[in-house]
Parts: sequence; C-alpha cells; structure tokens
Amino acid sequence: MTAPTAYWADHAWLGGDAVSTGVLIEIEGDRIAAVHAGVERPAGAEGLRGVTLPGLANTHSHAFQRALRGRTHRAGGSFWTWREDMYAVADRLEPDACYALARAVYAEMALAGVACVGEFHYVHHGPGGIPYADPNTLGEAHIAAAEDAGIRITLLDACYLAGGIDTALQGAQLRFGDADADAWGARAAALRETPVARVGAAIHSVRAVPADQLATVAGWARDRAAPLHVHLSEQVAENEACLAAYGRTPAQLLDEHGALGPHACAVHATHPAGGDVARIGDSLTTVCLCPTTERDLADGIGPARALATAGAPLALGSDSHAVVDLFEEARAVELDERLATGLRGHWRAAELLHAAGAAGHAALGWPDAGRLEAGALADLVTVGLDSVRLAGAQPTTLLESVVFAAGGADVREVVVGGRRVVAGGRHALIDDVPGALAAAVTAVTA
Ligand SMILES: [Zn+2]
Repeated sequence: MTAPTAYWADHAWLGGDAVSTGVLIEIEGDRIAAVHAGVERPAGAEGLRGVTLPGLANTHSHAFQRALRGRTHRAGGSFWTWREDMYAVADRLEPDACYALARAVYAEMALAGVACVGEFHYVHHGPGGIPYADPNTLGEAHIAAAEDAGIRITLLDACYLAGGIDTALQGAQLRFGDADADAWGARAAALRETPVARVGAAIHSVRAVPADQLATVAGWARDRAAPLHVHLSEQVAENEACLAAYGRTPAQLLDEHGALGPHACAVHATHPAGGDVARIGDSLTTVCLCPTTERDLADGIGPARALATAGAPLALGSDSHAVVDLFEEARAVELDERLATGLRGHWRAAELLHAAGAAGHAALGWPDAGRLEAGALADLVTVGLDSVRLAGAQPTTLLESVVFAAGGADVREVVVGGRRVVAGGRHALIDDVPGALAAAVTAVTA
C-alpha cells in the first residue's frame, strides 16, 4: 500500500462553472481518496499554486507527425500535398527512432498537462510492408514511450488495407497494411495491456478500409469493449468518393456496419452530410475535433455545436502536433464557431474543459479519469496564474481565463495516476525535453 499523499490547491475545478478555493486532494496509490473544498492548508500537504484541473486527454495523436512541424508551409498545396510530406517521414520510421520520437512527443504533452494520449497508430510494418519479427514492434514502442514519459496511453491500432477506395496500397502505405481485417485483428489481439496502457481499435477511414471489412473491425472492438476510433469526413473528397462507390456518406456506411456507437469516436467530422449530424448524435458516438490540425491542413470547420446538440460528446486532440496545447484546441472550438457564425458564446468554458478532459478519457477507455473526485484516477494539472498571459485574472472568471488565455507553457505541476510527472514546469522523468525532441526529429528528417 502506497502512503497517502496530500496536495492543497489554492484553486481547483471540481466541475460546474466556477473554481473552488482551498481544495485538499488526498491521493492513495493511483486514485484520489478524498477531496475537500474550502479548507485551510494542513501541515504536510504540498501546495499547488494556480488553478488545478483534472488531467487532460489528448484523444487523437499521430506522434511521428510531430516531425513535420514547421516543415510543410511552402506556398500552395492542400491536405493531399501535406500527405505526401507525411508519407516521406512515415517511410523513415524504424523502431528505435519511432520510440525516441514518441517518448519526446509524449513528454511535450505531459509538460502541457496531458495525462493520457490516444495514439492512432497505423505505421505497423517495416519498409516495403515487411513485418518485423514481432509484428507489433512499433505499437509496443509507443506503449513503452508513453510509460517512460509518465503518461497513460490507449494504443488505437488502425486497420489500413487500401490506398483509397478500390486502390491498392503503394509506396509508404505498404507499411500500414495487413492482408485483411481478420489478419489485422489477429495481430492487434497480441498487443499487451498494462495498468497504464489500453489497446483499442481504429478504422483508418472509409478510404482505407473497404466496406466489406468494416464489420470485422467493429466486432473486434465490441467483443473486447474496447474503443473504436475512425477518421471521418475530414475532406469533402472523402465524402464524394464514398458516395460514388457506395451510394452512402462515410458516416452512413460506418453506421450500417456497426462502427458508430457509445464506444466509437469519429475524428474530425468536419464535413458531415445529409443526415449525418443526427446519425452521429443519435448513436452517442464521440466526436474528436482537432482544430489546430484542421486549420493547418485547410480541412474546414466542423459543426461542433450541432453535433453536440444532437447527442455526440465532444473530445479534443492535437492530431498532427502542429501545436501541442489542449487549451488552444479547446478555445478554438468556440472561436472557430464564432468565425463561422458571426456570433459569440456557443460553448461555456466548463464544457470545453470537459471535452479536453473527462470526455476524452472516456473515449479512450478510461471512464474513471478526468474528474477531481474520490475514486477517480489521480491526475492533477496545475495552471500557474503568474505568467504574462494570466496575470490579473479575475477570481470569479478563472475558468474562462484558463480556457481563453492559458497556454500549455503555463502548466506548472502534473500528477498522473498519483505519480509526479511535472514539477515546477519541468519534466520530472526526462531532463531535456527540447533536446530529446530535436534529436528525435532530426533522426527522421535529416
Ligand atoms: Zn489523424
């Protein structure tokens, strides 16, 4: 039995639209044992100065794409030209480089308050598509990387069988492919879970998984009560190709094959068409928006409010890691909606924080994370209020200040599952995170 640890936060968000003051949080092992608000700091409790939040969940990540940051902004181009740049990096990933890059990226996430990552993993095999001796070498590298960076992971092993509808895999895509959905499922079933790592399923997209294979992947996830994630309608061209081939929208096709529902998470959902908003909402499928990537790739602005009103929980991810900052993702949901509608005030700060935390954890298969309450996983994130960004924040609107003005750099303290991962703004397990990132990026791009 681990000795209880006590933290005393001068402000903490316990749910609702305001923060509480003087909050004692007692931890036993990896769980919160008790939370008491409005109390004096007891002797022996460690102080957390600022606003303490539950741990954030980065629901959609492709760790290796961090290597593309800043390198794809030439004149012209589109999602599809960016994809060629991405394939060039994907083709250079070897197990050691993959691990080093993922570990550094997950450390960057920890510094920004992320307690759990959903790694949507599709580079499975060696160059030319030749499997490694252990065919899950790269997936396991991500699990090890998260553990070594101090955060939890849900490895969403992606089925990726085709280069497009009725198009064979080619080039770098050969590394993504399994023979069929059954072969994918047999491989993914060999991935091992740990107390800090879950395994889930992913359908890369309706472009990459033929219709007659979708139900196999959906069934694999259902049989294991595992999360099932899928890229959905990120581009209008995907809708057009799906309609031309199947006479259905991507969401309709997924729904018909059992791939929507409370365990499912549709990533992007930027261009739902026809009755898709109601279909996604009625099925209680989580929608994961990745606003900084969606703007980076010129995808468009997804109808987040309409999807949520229809019933879809909202989660958030930094996807390509053009930016790793869940506060930026959260406020972008509201601010993009303002640009699209000419109106303000679509989302409350508390709703956006819920998306960045509890909703994401739930979509990753950790329903007992993302809340500061007894019994929950002991994940704490303290945002300092002493930076130029937050100095002068009003006590009555601290939640709004955090959502609309904080950055990942304001995160001072992070506890994940009871373990101190960030202390005083520094990673407690990895000394030089920028150095680790620089070396890992250079290894796959130089
Ligand atoms: Zn993605």
